[in-house]
Amino acid sequence: MTNNSIRVRIAPSPTGNLHVGTARTALFNYLFAKKNNGKFILRIEDTDLERSKEEYTQNIYDSLKSMGLNWDEGPDVGGEYAPYKQSDRLDTYKNYAQKLVEQGKAYYCWCSQEEVEKEKNKAAEEKISYKYLGKCKDLTPEQVEQYKDEGREPVIRFCTPSEKLAFDDIVRGQVEFDTNLIDDFVIMKSNGTPTYNFAVVIDDMEMKISHVIRGEDHISNTPKQIFIYRALDAVVPTYAHVGMILAPDRSKLSKRHGATAVSEFIAQGYLPEAFVNFLSLLGWSPADNREVLELQEIIKLFKLEKVSPSPAIFEFDKLNWMNGQYIRNLIIEDLTNRAKNYLKGFDLSIYTEEQLAQIIDSIRKNLVILSEIPEAVIYFFGDSVEIDEKIQKEVIELPESQQVLNSFRDLAHTIDYDNLDEIHNQLADFRKSMTGLKPKQIMWAIRAALSGRTQGADIAIIISLLGKDRVLNRVDKAIIK
Ligand code: GLU
Repeated sequence: MTNNSIRVRIAPSPTGNLHVGTARTALFNYLFAKKNNGKFILRIEDTDLERSKEEYTQNIYDSLKSMGLNWDEGPDVGGEYAPYKQSDRLDTYKNYAQKLVEQGKAYYCWCSQEEVEKEKNKAAEEKISYKYLGKCKDLTPEQVEQYKDEGREPVIRFCTPSEKLAFDDIVRGQVEFDTNLIDDFVIMKSNGTPTYNFAVVIDDMEMKISHVIRGEDHISNTPKQIFIYRALDAVVPTYAHVGMILAPDRSKLSKRHGATAVSEFIAQGYLPEAFVNFLSLLGWSPADNREVLELQEIIKLFKLEKVSPSPAIFEFDKLNWMNGQYIRNLIIEDLTNRAKNYLKGFDLSIYTEEQLAQIIDSIRKNLVILSEIPEAVIYFFGDSVEIDEKIQKEVIELPESQQVLNSFRDLAHTIDYDNLDEIHNQLADFRKSMTGLKPKQIMWAIRAALSGRTQGADIAIIISLLGKDRVLNRVDKAIIK
């Protein structure tokens, strides 16, 4: 049954690709909605017309979908409170702002940007924090006429009441504010677009949002927003401000630490489900401290009250570990299908679907991300193999290796290439027959000749899939005549 009263939203601005911080906030909203049979809403906050781009909106859709965070209402799917894109709602903001002006709770301000800038600089010089002092609050009709004649375009400012303000935050408990620092802030810009603080309140109110779950960086906006709700006689939603995500060096997570957009991580070959699992543990953990959890399980265990107010560290090592776990646990057909996206340049037709799955299965134990797959499987393709100088010198050219390869060439003629168990047996016998050499030395030499590596897939699988011609060809090439 749907709980109509629980309605949460993620409200990204399409000024960049979906950032991991926003993705984590989206996830927590989604978990809270699912847990409580509520609704998860996507709203696109694109009132910054210059910086907003359609390609970023698309990236937000694609990233959320790839993470499995499907929304119940949004710009593309519609809903009872459409439109869900702020640029389609400009009249709504205008009407509410007008209403506030009529009620004396907001006023037109004709000060130019330069004038405001000057005041700000002056305050900075005097080392006091800048506050707009209400110069345009009580203008006479004549003054207004004069400003109009000068061709000025007004903004609308909100009359900030001077009263104490505190609110209960699900994550942080009681939060108090010194509202003396808040001036009569702008709610409508002179170009007719709303400011963030105004639009977000109007939308959350109209869309009947019950809980606002967002990053700690928005706490300082909350008193302004509560004042606007009060001015509109509207119900204030319940807030939950979650701790920020920081890089391992405890600075703001940025490009210099690596990828920051969900789509970049997915393109690198982090499995969306591993990524979601990892994000869910940034600021939250289940009571039993388990870590590898599928989305359905996370929904069951998630508790908003247990989310931490402290910053969470984005540990790349942990993400890598988590991704490895998922790669190892995925059913092999699924992993093989995903691997194909990274093998576009390979002639996969030389193998059956089953053989391809065998290759992927044989290399998955060392994978961290899927984009490592081409490098890990390259020796399964092509007639010959590239052997670098180091392997040539340190493995192939050793007298023991040459002895192994000469003997192995004879064996290679008699191997039953289609019978993996039999290859294992034959290799075991071969090792025993090479008296005086360590098993490791023996396998090293064969592996190096066949794959150009000292580690990788099971040798029997390499032999079986390369087949007689390619095995003989590679061994011959490695033997020094
Ligand atoms: N557009 C705002 C952001 O991306 C939304 C903040 C909010 O959730 O109120 O930060």
